[in-house]
Amino acid sequence: MEGDYIARRLEISGIVQGVGFRPFVYRLAAEIGIKGEVANTSSGVSVVIEGGRCEVDSFCRNILHGPPLARITGMSIHDETIKGYDSFCIVESRKNNDKSTLISPDISVCGDCIRELSDPDDRRHNYPFINCTNCGPRYSIIAEVPYDRPNTSMKIFPMCNECRTEFDDPANRRFHAQPNACPRCGPRIKLYDNNSEVPGDAIEAAASLLKKGYIIAIKGIGGFHLAVDAENSRAVMLLRQRKHKEERPFALMSYSLKDVQRFAFVTPGDEALLTSAQRPIVILEKRQPNSIAQGVSPRNNTLGVMLPYTPLHYLLLRQGFTALVMTSANISDEPIVISNEEAFKRLAGIADYFLVHDRDIYNRSDDSVIRPVAGAARFIRRSRGYVPTPVFLRQDVPQMLACGAELKNTFCLTKGNKAFLSQHIGDLENAPTYDFFTSSIEQMKKLLDITPDIIVCDQHPDYLSSTYAQRQQGIRKVQVQHHHAHIVSCMAENALEGDVIGLAFDGLGYGTDGAMWGGEILISDERSFIRKVHLSYAPMPGGDMAVREPWRMAISYLYHTFGRDLFGLDLPFLKEIDEKRLNIIIQMINNNVNAPNTSGLGRLFDGIAAIIGLRNMVCYEGQAAMELEMICKQTKESYDYKWSNGETFNVLLEPIISGVVQDVTRDVDPSKISGKFHNSLIRLFSEICEEIRTETGLNRVAMSGGVFQNAIILKGLIQALSEKGFQVFTHRLVPTNDGGVCLGQAVIAAQMHGDR
Ligand code: ZN
Ligand code: ZN
Ligand code: FE
Repeated sequence: MEGDYIARRLEISGIVQGVGFRPFVYRLAAEIGIKGEVANTSSGVSVVIEGGRCEVDSFCRNILHGPPLARITGMSIHDETIKGYDSFCIVESRKNNDKSTLISPDISVCGDCIRELSDPDDRRHNYPFINCTNCGPRYSIIAEVPYDRPNTSMKIFPMCNECRTEFDDPANRRFHAQPNACPRCGPRIKLYDNNSEVPGDAIEAAASLLKKGYIIAIKGIGGFHLAVDAENSRAVMLLRQRKHKEERPFALMSYSLKDVQRFAFVTPGDEALLTSAQRPIVILEKRQPNSIAQGVSPRNNTLGVMLPYTPLHYLLLRQGFTALVMTSANISDEPIVISNEEAFKRLAGIADYFLVHDRDIYNRSDDSVIRPVAGAARFIRRSRGYVPTPVFLRQDVPQMLACGAELKNTFCLTKGNKAFLSQHIGDLENAPTYDFFTSSIEQMKKLLDITPDIIVCDQHPDYLSSTYAQRQQGIRKVQVQHHHAHIVSCMAENALEGDVIGLAFDGLGYGTDGAMWGGEILISDERSFIRKVHLSYAPMPGGDMAVREPWRMAISYLYHTFGRDLFGLDLPFLKEIDEKRLNIIIQMINNNVNAPNTSGLGRLFDGIAAIIGLRNMVCYEGQAAMELEMICKQTKESYDYKWSNGETFNVLLEPIISGVVQDVTRDVDPSKISGKFHNSLIRLFSEICEEIRTETGLNRVAMSGGVFQNAIILKGLIQALSEKGFQVFTHRLVPTNDGGVCLGQAVIAAQMHGDR
């Protein structure tokens, strides 16, 4: 019908560029039989359509499905005058226009590409760099915007005629796939020993070397991995030794879900995460017994597992491994290695062989790590696959740089209603990581076209991220308290405004009184907070040393509870400590020498772990606390707990400490002690929340801080508080640990700026 011929213009925003959106629209238009055009704009994609009313409606509905990698965050539909298009076409994007659009994260190889990879008749059969508009490297290979091939590390590979034809054909699934390549024109893989290239098929040779127990450095998407056969105990131990006696759990990669199920339990939720396009490392519960070497994840009931996310991984894993250890190729806490030269130089003492290729990595990103708890994915580390996807804010904010914390650093840049968190940077105290921090800031500013008007940092005067902020000239500076930032980070991703009860349970953060906080309940909104509750202060004898040596915290808590009577306690761990050292620690406490006060809950976990004999020293922050969680056995019992009321509540430690000590001297199973300790904290803090609610009428609880990486505490508090009728808010989009702090910093600074 003539009169029903209409025209509309659709403005679509979100992640709609570099993800095959225009070919998707083109095919949809062809399918439905509609005319018009599609173009990239500065804010997303614009589509003009003409056709029958029915067809136009159907088009508007179906476009919302988008191609798999797109994320539509907004679509507006406008009336247009009929121009009488005679076909549907893709309009070339004009340069400079593209700057403020979103860059896609790296995407795991898709099903269509895997099919071609395994098809002997396909021209990309067994080609390790196969990709298409729906998959492949993105963020890791981009140096400049717009996201066009000359601005990526693919610029050195001119496309052959066949690839070029695919690239130019709007109906082809490689239309404008910037990393498009084939064995004739694209990157190549090579295997080296310490001196020269190993002849033959690189992947087959690498697989057979892995089977013999060798360590191979493998270049991936965001950096190098160090790989060994995960079922070979000797190889796993060798890797630990060569990696400077590394004690952190190693991540695994398996070919398929079926392989993973042989050594770990996989719930449907886990499965969805494992097979998602982001392909994070997912923390799964170990199946016992299993064939994975003990040394992969010692003293831990979980395994971090991922599925292959590059064609190269598929080709390698297909050679018959239950799992490979695939751990970040770095030394100590330095950033992961990304260039071939760096790999040959820095990994020479660790790797026996090097599986490398000639496509450069421009933006380093570690694998992301997720632990599913209480029905949701919880980030331990948000990096490859997720960065630079923004977190959307409740309202527009100024352009800002929030510098984050010191450990597990990430920073964040804001623009409009978007907060772009950086990839995982790491612990800033080592120089290469600090360089990575400063260079990534410059790089992300350029890619996102953001010039900050405000720079935000932690109040800790010694954080390198803070001193960096202080050194910047001609820019407004804002300092934010660490735990306030934690709580507001949680509020921001849940789009909360107004007052909440904020549970900030953490290792250490600089408090407004100069003490190290971390067991606080704040009454907080987006601009300020009141410190309503805190753990009693305990000195940290030796300062940072007390973080690496939990026995020092144990002594501190025992002295706090028993005074000099602690010498008479029948605790096995005390017998391992030389009495002279013990006296020095007590002197430090008494004379207040190098013994800053802390209310950190993370330190209490460390102290309890030492008192029950789990370990006196740790190799990484949170190790003792993690092991305390791992041994935990369910029980209904708990220890006594108490807090003193008043303007602020002071949680007293004595009842819990003396309860634990009594159980240890009575030889109660450490698993049960751990269970009672966890219960005590859950009951204690949920009761305190009730009392705060009575006093203030607040019913919303936001929880943040590294302690909530502990699944028992997170699950337990969600449950206990929900049963009491609270609305509970937790992290799902950014880490609860210090990797999420920058988001809160930015939102607080925006609020303070608005107040001016
Ligand atoms: Zn693909
Ligand atoms: Zn080609
Ligand atoms: Fe923190």
